[in-house]
Amino acid sequence: MKYDIIIIGSGPGGYVAAIRAAQLGRKVAIVEKAELGGVCLNWGCIPTKAMLKSAQVYNYLKTAANYGIEVGEPPKADMERIVARSRSVAEQMSKGVSFLLSKNKVDVLCGTGLLEGEGKVKVLSVEKQNEENSVQETIYEADHIILATGARPRELPNIPVDGKHVVNSRQALCLDHVPESLIVVGSGAIGSEFAYLYASLGSKVTIVEYLPNLMPLEDEEVSKQMERTFRKMRIGVVTGASVQSVKVEKERCKVEIDSKKGLEMLEAEMVLSAVGIKTNIEGLGLEKLGVTIARDKIVTDEFGRTNIAGIYAIGDLVASPALAHVASAEGIRCVEKICGLDPQLVDHTNIPSCIYTSPEVASVGLTEKQALEQGYEIKVGKFPYTASGKATAAGDRDGFVKLIFDCATDRLLGAHLVGLNVTEMIAELALAKTLGATSESIIETIHPHPTMSEAVLEAAEMSDNKCIHI
Ligand code: FAD
Repeated sequence: MKYDIIIIGSGPGGYVAAIRAAQLGRKVAIVEKAELGGVCLNWGCIPTKAMLKSAQVYNYLKTAANYGIEVGEPPKADMERIVARSRSVAEQMSKGVSFLLSKNKVDVLCGTGLLEGEGKVKVLSVEKQNEENSVQETIYEADHIILATGARPRELPNIPVDGKHVVNSRQALCLDHVPESLIVVGSGAIGSEFAYLYASLGSKVTIVEYLPNLMPLEDEEVSKQMERTFRKMRIGVVTGASVQSVKVEKERCKVEIDSKKGLEMLEAEMVLSAVGIKTNIEGLGLEKLGVTIARDKIVTDEFGRTNIAGIYAIGDLVASPALAHVASAEGIRCVEKICGLDPQLVDHTNIPSCIYTSPEVASVGLTEKQALEQGYEIKVGKFPYTASGKATAAGDRDGFVKLIFDCATDRLLGAHLVGLNVTEMIAELALAKTLGATSESIIETIHPHPTMSEAVLEAAEMSDNKCIHI
């Protein structure tokens, strides 16, 4: 019952931290109340990508004739099978986490974990006894307790989620049919991916975004390009609009919005609320121990240490970007610090982020606007996919690579990509930033032909006015 480290929550923050701690020879337990792998593997990154793959296949089949392939009957999207495939992929990944934890001799404690005083975790588990369920309470001790309980979809009072007409991201992963029409509130990564998914499968989709641009965290040129792409797909895009109310009348959702045009009423079969996340901090016993919370997030230092000795927090629970790879990086650094190593800090200026629409979106570092606001004198190189041989051969010419360099040092400050495969290509640019690459070093790096990644080389050349293919 005594461990070196207990981790509460087995998402990409928690399970990665547990495995790293076990590698470093620590006796570790992880507490999980639902599926191993957390939101990411079960209700986030992975099942969405499985469904997006179905949409991509469907779109390719619909345009197969452009590639000289006749498919005969028009393809049909079978929602039940699309969802079943996505659930089975998630289950497979969750089993993979179970295998990895057991291989690394991490004890999995099934149940709800909470802090029971310093160095103590209480686990509440439901057990069946004589056909009746009873709650068992067990206390475990640990020198270090890492909180990694993640987050859930945020609910706004004026967009009440009922799970049938008005749904959140988790429910949108399990619909039993493709809604004839859908209003997506919020155009961040999650809202945009679902908008693309359901529009591809035949829904008439409208996105309502509060901020002035679609995909508001992206570089403005990316937002503009994706707005054009979405409009071409007949996705309605209303930006700078706030949702006043959502009401369900006669099986139809009535969404009142306040936009540039004034008050307007939109109508659809369904509404997807994709307005951010709410951390799972309730019921963890944080108040009793006096753990500091600010704006719904647990406050930590750069190694995940809270204000209470021996209590740490990582992942969506803390103020860094809510991304799986950030949660994992924080988990590893937190555990390495506990174990007396000297890990590198997470570089918050170098976190890649991706949106898996088609075309895809990927970025790292400063946007052009941020670079100018921070006082940099910049040079920008932008290379369009229309001039790329590989993009033309693939029939996916929608996109560009935009690189921003600091004139004083020639170092890469930011990269903003739209197009096929850019979610794979962004890692090259994150590495370039880690190594302090300059436009010159990118240009000197020979890129293979024909690949989409040549667009990176050409964009760097463009910034030095020596691009060959434009
Ligand atoms: P989580 O993954 O949320 O895991 C927390 C775990 O803790 C859960 O399993 C939960 O059951 C458990 N738990 C909670 N409370 C307790 C308790 N008291 N006791 C025991 N267990 C508890 N990120 C990306 O990087 N790329 C993507 O493409 C991407 N797509 C996404 C798509 C969607 C639809 C959503 C919703 C999210 C997506 N994300 C994506 C975000 C990503 O899922 C999260 O950033 C990531 O899961 C956070 O990891 P975490 O370890 O902090 O917590």
